[in-house]
Amino acid sequence: MSKVIRSDALHEELMIESLKKGGYSEHDIEEAKKNWETTKSLLPKDFDKLNSSNDCLFCKGDIKGERQSYANITLAHEEPTTFKKTLLSLGKKNVKSQIGSLVPAYIAICNRCKRVLRMVELVKWLVTLILTGVSFIVLGFLNSIGILEKTSQLVPYVVVLGSAILGYILGKVVSAAYSKAKSETVHLNVFDLDILKEMKEKGWFLLQDDKGSTSVNFDRTPGNFGRVFEE
Ligand SMILES: [Zn+2]
Repeated sequence: MSKVIRSDALHEELMIESLKKGGYSEHDIEEAKKNWETTKSLLPKDFDKLNSSNDCLFCKGDIKGERQSYANITLAHEEPTTFKKTLLSLGKKNVKSQIGSLVPAYIAICNRCKRVLRMVELVKWLVTLILTGVSFIVLGFLNSIGILEKTSQLVPYVVVLGSAILGYILGKVVSAAYSKAKSETVHLNVFDLDILKEMKEKGWFLLQDDKGSTSVNFDRTPGNFGRVFEE
């Protein structure tokens, strides 16, 4: 039984260094090293290729774009079994933690795929924004020709709210259509990538929702975590 000891570092030496800085005891560090062995055994041997690859991993087909930046996600796994104290477990046994391993992944991505992934997210809100904007213009026009004065004061609110809701629904439809078109050439879900597909089979999951397209953050550099297997 071990408690949760957290370090983001992927390379063992970096991990020990960061735990020492974090004020963990020798005993905790030994424990963390043992846990890390379990985590490592759950990672595919080519895990480091996610960020060391010079080719974009999101491009579908034979021609791959050049890596320009990194898509950043955090992967979690139940193992190694860790226990945590929660408010509810006061006085009782510690509760088994849902997350035993937490690993950051920086995935090589080209500018084109990055744009597509961003657009999938953006389109949903863009349509809402445009429709709401249009409703304001229409209301302004109706006001200027004196029509609004004759109606209930509630009308402008209903029109704006209605437009926002309609925009939200339309945005989802447009985003789904956009995703469908783009999924011909771009992997929109990280678990479609070979290395991550293998990880999913081994029980890894994303902390964020991974239905359909994955929402990711982007970084110019792969972070200071070191690599698991590669030096
Ligand atoms: Zn690409």
